[in-house]
Amino acid sequence: MMKLTVLGSTGSIGTQTLEVVQEQGNITIEALGAGRNIKLLEEQIRKFSPRYACVADSEAAKELQIAVADTETKVISGADGMEELAADPASDTVVGAIVGIAGLRSSLAAVKAGKRLALANKETLVTAGDLIRRARKESGAELIPVDSEHSAVFQCLEAISSERRKAELKRVILTASGGPFVGKKADELRDVTPEKALKHPNWEMGAKITIDSATLMNKGLEVLEAAQLFDVTVDQVDVLVHRQSIVHSMIETIDGAVLAQMGVPDMKLPIQYALTYPDRRPMQNNTLNLAEITALTFEKPDLETFRPLALAYDAGRMGHTMPCVINGANEAAVALFLQKKIGFLDIFEMLAKTMQAHEVIKNPTLTDIIEADRWAREMVMQNFARK
Ligand code: MG
Repeated sequence: MMKLTVLGSTGSIGTQTLEVVQEQGNITIEALGAGRNIKLLEEQIRKFSPRYACVADSEAAKELQIAVADTETKVISGADGMEELAADPASDTVVGAIVGIAGLRSSLAAVKAGKRLALANKETLVTAGDLIRRARKESGAELIPVDSEHSAVFQCLEAISSERRKAELKRVILTASGGPFVGKKADELRDVTPEKALKHPNWEMGAKITIDSATLMNKGLEVLEAAQLFDVTVDQVDVLVHRQSIVHSMIETIDGAVLAQMGVPDMKLPIQYALTYPDRRPMQNNTLNLAEITALTFEKPDLETFRPLALAYDAGRMGHTMPCVINGANEAAVALFLQKKIGFLDIFEMLAKTMQAHEVIKNPTLTDIIEADRWAREMVMQNFARK
C-alpha cells in the first residue's frame, strides 16, 4: 500500500491526483496540504481521512479546525507545516503540486527525507536545481516529473539504460501548444486582457500557469526544468509548437532516432505514472485515435514575439540565481496582470528589466535563492510604481 502526501491538494493537479488515488484504490492518503480553499479541503478530508492537513496560515487553520472538528485529522499551518508533512516518515511518496516558489521548501524536504517526489511544481528545479541534485545524491530520493512534457521525456528515456544516458541522449524536444495567441505579433498582443489569456485551447490549468502558457513563459520554465531534470544544457532543449497537444514531448538520441510519447491531453496519465512507476496501470477513457486526428503539425516558436521564452533561455545560459530571478519576476508580473494593473506586454518588459538589473550569485544556497526571489519581486513592484 502506497502512503501518499499531496501538497497542493485543492489545485488542478492536486484534485486530479486524488481522482487517480480513488481509481487506483491501493493508495492511502497520509496528509493533504492546501492554500485557502477550506471548503474543498474539508470535502477531501472527509473522503480520504488523512492524519494531517496543512493550510497556508493560522487563520485558515482556525477555520478548517472548526470545519473538521468531528474528524481525526490534525490541522497544522504554514510553510513549516508543509515542510514537516513532506519529511514525515509516515508517507513514502509526496506529490509536490503547490504553485510557485512556495513549493520549494517542501520539495526539498521530501527529497532530503529520501521519498519519491512526484513533482508538479516547476519552480523547485528552476530555482534550486543544484540543491535538489545534491540532496538526491545523499538521500537516494526518486524524482518523477508530473508535468506532461517532462513525464513524456522521462518515459522516452526509459528506452536508454541510465548509465548510457549521458552519452547517448542528444536533445530533448519539448512540445508547446503555443497558447491562445500563437501566430500573433506583438502589436496584436497589446490589448490582451486576463479574460482572453485565460482561455487555453487544450489544457485545463490554474490561472497563473494559463497566463504563463499564453506568454510562453511556461515553456521557458519547462526548458529550465528539463535541463536540470535530465542533466543537459538549455541549448540541448528545443521547443516545437505542436497545436494538437498529442505528442507530449520527444527525445533525440545520438544516432538520430527521435522517440516521442503521445496520448490524449489528460494530466491523469502523467500523474498516475509518477505514482505507479515503473509499473503501468489501466486508465479509463484514455484512448488516442490518431485516425480521427489525421494530422500532427510542428513549427518553430516565435521567440521574437514571445520574448519570455527567449529570456528563459538566456537565464538558463547564465545559470546560478538568474533562473530564480526570472521566475520570481514572472510570478510578480503575472499577479499584477491578473489584477489588471499592467498590460500583457508589460510582463515581458518587467522580466527583461529585472534580469538586466540582477548580478548573479554563484552556487546559491537556499537562503540566497529565497533572497534572489524576493529581490526580483521587489524590482517588479518598483518598476510598476514608476509606470
Ligand atoms: Mg507542461
